[in-house]
Amino acid sequence: MLGKQLELWTVAQNLVRVVLPNHSLLTGKPEQTESVTLWETLEFLDAPCCDACGFPFEFDVGENVLCGRCEGKRPAFDRARSAIRYTEQSRKLVLDFKHGGRTDGLEFFAAQMHRAGRDLLHDAHILMPVPLHKKRLRQRKFNQAALLARALSKLSGLPYETNTILRAKNTPTQGGQSYLGRKRNVSGAFVIPEDKRKLIGNARIVLIDDVQTTGSTLEACAKVLKKYGAQQVDSLSLMRVVRPEPV
Ligand SMILES: [Zn+2]
Repeated sequence: MLGKQLELWTVAQNLVRVVLPNHSLLTGKPEQTESVTLWETLEFLDAPCCDACGFPFEFDVGENVLCGRCEGKRPAFDRARSAIRYTEQSRKLVLDFKHGGRTDGLEFFAAQMHRAGRDLLHDAHILMPVPLHKKRLRQRKFNQAALLARALSKLSGLPYETNTILRAKNTPTQGGQSYLGRKRNVSGAFVIPEDKRKLIGNARIVLIDDVQTTGSTLEACAKVLKKYGAQQVDSLSLMRVVRPEPV
């Protein structure tokens, strides 16, 4: 009897090994030797930060404080928050997710976004992933922002809409471009089909994305959503590039 049970257990264990890759998402090394280091290398983002763009502050300077840049000109979106700082170490995690097709980190990603975006989610009506152009969607198979939105929808109970905001222009990859270059790139890139516009009016929307770089994609999305009457447009991303000065 026990022999039979043991045999079944071994089969089950082997199945688990096949289904769940037992190497780290971060370095590809075996998980057991690496899990502590993984936590140590990730920089989790949270308050205190600029109330608008989410730029992290070193010290708590009170509530509703803006960074110098947002003080000068408020962004088109209301608030942006991110869960993890984009660094040399965390980069691997998101590249595996975006281009390597690994989705086994999704639950962890969603939980971290839920933590960092709790205030935004508390006020929101609906989640909307930042869209990919259909050509790029074919290349990547999935829109990773949509996978994150779906996972967050499960955690928060908020609905998510994938086809409301669309990318009309297939903009080149933004890596390595300046802020102005990126801004030019995405201007006019997003549209909302006529039959979806009724969803936008008076809605409090949280845009979901994988990595926030300069914020220019977010600006362009927020502008078009506000044009059709969105009451509030916030953004929640998994990772964010943090430069010494906010851009
Ligand atoms: Zn700011």
